[in-house]
Formats: sequence, C-alpha cells, structure tokens
Amino acid sequence: MDFEPTGATKEIRDLARRVSLERFRPTAFENREDMSPRRGNLRLLAELGILGCSLPEEYGGGGRPDLDALLAVEQISYGCPRTGDQALMTMTGPGSFIARHGTEEQKRRYIPPLCTAQERFSISLSEPEAGTALTDLKCRAEIVGNDCVINGVKTFCSDAGHADHILVFVRFAEGSLGIGAILVHRDTPGLTLSAPHHHISGGSWFELFFDDATIPAGDVLLDGDAIGRLLAAYDLERCGANVYVLGVAQIALDMAVEYVESRRQFGRPIADFQMVQQKLADMWIAMEASRLLNYRAIARADQGLPIRQDSSAAKVIATETASMVCNTAMQIHGGSGMSHELPLDWLYRMVRPREVAGGTSDIHRSQIASAMVGRRFDHRQG
Ligand SMILES: Cc1cc2nc3c(=O)[nH]c(=O)nc-3n(C[C@H](O)[C@H](O)[C@H](O)COP(=O)(O)OP(=O)(O)OC[C@H]3O[C@@H](n4cnc5c(N)ncnc54)[C@H](O)[C@@H]3O)c2cc1C
Repeated sequence: MDFEPTGATKEIRDLARRVSLERFRPTAFENREDMSPRRGNLRLLAELGILGCSLPEEYGGGGRPDLDALLAVEQISYGCPRTGDQALMTMTGPGSFIARHGTEEQKRRYIPPLCTAQERFSISLSEPEAGTALTDLKCRAEIVGNDCVINGVKTFCSDAGHADHILVFVRFAEGSLGIGAILVHRDTPGLTLSAPHHHISGGSWFELFFDDATIPAGDVLLDGDAIGRLLAAYDLERCGANVYVLGVAQIALDMAVEYVESRRQFGRPIADFQMVQQKLADMWIAMEASRLLNYRAIARADQGLPIRQDSSAAKVIATETASMVCNTAMQIHGGSGMSHELPLDWLYRMVRPREVAGGTSDIHRSQIASAMVGRRFDHRQG
C-alpha cells in the first residue's frame, strides 16, 4: 500500500498544481459571481494533456487511470475553484460514461472535442418529481426507425446554457429497468431551455423541455436496463466532485492558518488560544480523512471494483468536511470572515451545494446502512 503518488500520476498532479497556482490563481477570486466558462484555462489544461488525461488514448485522451485525473482536479480546484468546477465535467463526467458504454461511432464523435476543450457536456438526471427518487423519472424516449423521439421535463441541469451536448437519463420502458441514457445536442429541434436559475454559488441551472425532440437513434447511449451501469459510472463522477470540494476547502484552510498567526488579540497571536488550535486541528484531521476515503474509492474504481458504499462514504465525508472547513475558517476570521471583501463566504457557497448535488448526504447514509445490513430499504413502504 503506497500513500504517495509516483511516476506519471505524480507528474500530472504536480503539473496541475503548478499551472493552476501560477496561471489561474492570480484572477481566481475576481468577479466571483461570474461563473461563465474559463475557456482559456480549460484550453491550457487541454494543451498540457491534463483535461483528457484519463480518457482513452485512441480518441485523443491520455489513457491514464481515473486517479490521475481526480488528483489533478483537486489541484486545479485549489488554484481556481471555477476552473476546477468546469474541468470536472470533462475529467470525470459524460466523457467517461461514453468511454465505458458508447459505441465506436459515439466515442469517435464525442470524446476528441472534450479532450481539446472544444466542446462541453452537461448531465441531466433530475426531474421535478424525481430528485432523490431518481427511478421515478418520466422523461420518455422512443426509438422510431432511425430516430429517437423525446418528451418530458428535466430540471436542475447545471451549466446547460454553456454546454454543446447534454447526457440525459430517460425512460424507454416502465420500471427501473426501463431507464437509459441519450446524447442530446443543445440545439436539437423540440428541446427548449428555461432562462437560467442560479445556485448559491452563482452557477447556473436550467430546466429542459422536450417536446417531440428528435435525435438520431445513433445517439442513444443505453436504451434501457441501464440504471445499474449509469449509477456505477456516476459513483466515479461523484468522487470527482468530492476532490473538487476538498481543493476548494484547502484554500479556506490555508487562509485560516495564515490568519491565526497574523491576527493578534490580548497581545498575542490568536493561534495561542487552545480553542483556536482545536479548530485548526479538527479541520486538518477531517480534510486528511476525507482525502484518504476518496483516494481509496477512486483507486478501487480503477481496479474495476464496485465502489457504491465507498463513494457514498467518500461523498458524505468530503462534502460535509468542506462545508465545515469553509464555515470554520469564516469563524476564525471574525468580522472579516463575514465580509464579501474576503472570498471565504464564496468558497463556502461553492462547496455547500455539493451536500445535495450528486445525491443528498441523507440518501448516501441510507445506502451505506443498507450495505451494512445487507438488504435494500424500500423507501416507498416507510
Ligand atoms: C449545485 C447543484 C447542482 C446540481 N446539478 C445537477 C445536474 O447537473 N443535473 C441533474 O440532473 N441534477 C442536478 N442537481 C440536482 C440534484 O441531483 C438534486 O437536487 C438532488 O438529487 C436532490 O433532489 P431534490 O432536490 O429533488 O430533493 P428531494 O429529493 O426532494 O429531497 C428533499 C429532502 O428530502 C430528503 N429525502 C428524500 N428522500 C429521502 C429518503 N429516502 N431518505 C432520507 N431522506 C430523503 C433529502 O435528503 C432532502 O433533504 C444539482 C443540485 C445542486 C444543488
């Protein structure tokens, strides 16, 4: 068991850290609410081979394990939260869904422009009546000859206004086995996007209205019996979001460490007070514990092992830790921590929504308990 990355894994992580701190950090906290894509940053990551590093080599990627991509995501997010958030969708999102489950034609069409940052994907699972109860989704897809016709409404689709394509979970038949996934161009006739809504981070989300929207049947990724495979791919996507929040929270932790030595009260640095020391230590312990659980989950996924319980545990601890660390850093900064002049409240608003996105902490705890007792809980029966 080796706890330190070596070889190419270390090189990619260190390169991501250096580039992100040198090139992205200087403007990372300017115009904080502007969440439009950091296209220049994404292009640079693509040129350096970081953006597509874990996608297959034959389609323009680097062919590296997912662990490499996710360690890089953590460093990119540490340098620039907005770039990290946007790189995430390429480095662990639909690209890896397509690499795993796509046809040869789909891989050739969709993966290369992701690696070069020319195209972007969003992902759409949630519906107005199907959030935690994802398998209740109703958005309907029907294959008619060479076409696939879609009808229904999706919600909470992050960043869809900036995406070229959307990976959409849809229903081909009744029951949880009837769920599949399709690849939809944003300009597909019959698809309308709502005006943007905003998360507390400033990031945008959209409703999607499908009214006899028609795509080629060749853009069906999985035409049913897919929920298990889709959720397995989503386990890894979730780990990407976890390392993203840890990278962002590390900024708040750094700020707290610096502040406790520079801020003096009662004639001494506030670091001298034991209650401040306890806060610092608790933040560090929780961050390290979160990292270990996440890295283990990702490494197990790279070995082809199922990670449902690991990724749920990694998700709960990483997202709750990141919120706690940003919140505690605000407390340590006293009145300054409550001011918009520092980026701390924004860092908190960047990480807090992740306790909900990707499945709430409650449902992940329920899944962990389910694995522990060895039976599925039927949430419909109480
Ligand atoms: C920042 C952000 C980005 C997002 N991006 C996307 C995206 O790009 N694409 C997408 O499809 N979706 C996205 N979502 C939506 C997200 O997946 C849902 O918000 C999430 O799954 C919860 O669904 P809901 O909001 O309908 O809450 P609900 O399911 O209505 O839950 C409400 C509350 O009830 C609790 N609850 C519900 N059922 C249970 C249960 N069985 N046991 C215990 N507690 C339960 C929940 O934990 C929660 O506290 C995003 C959300 C956020 C916050």
